[in-house]
Amino acid sequence: MRIERIDVIHTNIPMNQTFRTSFGAINEQHSIVVKVYGEGHTAFGEACPFYAPVYSYECIETMKAVIRGFIAPAIIGKSLNGIEDYYRAVDFIKGNNHAKAAVETALWDLESKMRGLPLWKLVGGTDPAVEVGVSIGIQPSVDALLKKIEDYLAEGYRRIKIKIEPGKDIDTVSKVRKAFPDISLMVDANSSYRLKDSETLARLDEHHLLMMEQPLAEDDIIDHGKLQSAISTPICLDESIHTPDDARKAIELGSCKIINIKYGRVGGLLNSVRIHDICMKNGIGNWAGGMIETGIGQRFKIALSTLPNFKYAADIETSDRFLVEDLVTPDIAHVKGMLDANTEYRVDEIKLNKYTEDVTICRA
Ligand SMILES: [Mg+2]
Repeated sequence: MRIERIDVIHTNIPMNQTFRTSFGAINEQHSIVVKVYGEGHTAFGEACPFYAPVYSYECIETMKAVIRGFIAPAIIGKSLNGIEDYYRAVDFIKGNNHAKAAVETALWDLESKMRGLPLWKLVGGTDPAVEVGVSIGIQPSVDALLKKIEDYLAEGYRRIKIKIEPGKDIDTVSKVRKAFPDISLMVDANSSYRLKDSETLARLDEHHLLMMEQPLAEDDIIDHGKLQSAISTPICLDESIHTPDDARKAIELGSCKIINIKYGRVGGLLNSVRIHDICMKNGIGNWAGGMIETGIGQRFKIALSTLPNFKYAADIETSDRFLVEDLVTPDIAHVKGMLDANTEYRVDEIKLNKYTEDVTICRA
């Protein structure tokens, strides 16, 4: 494929509710949407590491700089022999996986259009029926949390994820378990604990959680290995896994039993598939996590979730979940916690323009 032009579009959509994690509160959804022009088509990709560098060192401004300064010049006007060729072309850039993924996903979208194949088939998916879970931010009180869980269960969500942090963990989880003894329940700690908290975290074992996501440091896999041998709740790594090789090392060290694959964090869909394959071979489960993408990015999470080793419900945000308006039509909506990967979502360019903060046009 030959790319003639790349538009780097910074979008900012007001959110209809505040999402609070141990990183802080978010009220606006900032994203980098990439529009590529080539082979007689236009296609869209997206990645969003949050506006500030709180999830990783990347942020919206670093993405713009890296795409404009380095990724676009490396591929515009050149013939790319598929997605693997794109990885080779941008391999000289260290890290910056969200920036790479924003462009990479647009290339998958382009290939999907060129070949007339839905994304989920293109990535090698096997089952278009996708289970959807919900991730609930830190709530002002346990009662407020219980109410939210009740509402989401009534909507049909297949799995509930709650955020925990030191001081808001044992009591919260035990109250949730008492109220909902049998639901599929997991916790995400977003790196807010240290190995010295092992005894506290082991107290969560009795609540038969589906998994505990990223309890320890963002750059750690060694201590996670020690923690996993001290607790029975399966550890799921998120922030620690950036490459297929990170996944291999974490598995060798026994640092996790599950890996959450966020395509932005790992540089795109091809690396996501590679990590999936390594995990499947080693009996490590996967699921698709998210960064509150717009519908443009949700399409890629839906596609990945059709791969055979995506065994757990995905964090796919429906269009009405956080955004006052989404950028795709039809809206992304689940039915009793299920999505059909065959649904085609078209990018609504009028809404895209409405929520655009700035655009950089890159040409040869
Ligand atoms: Mg997480």
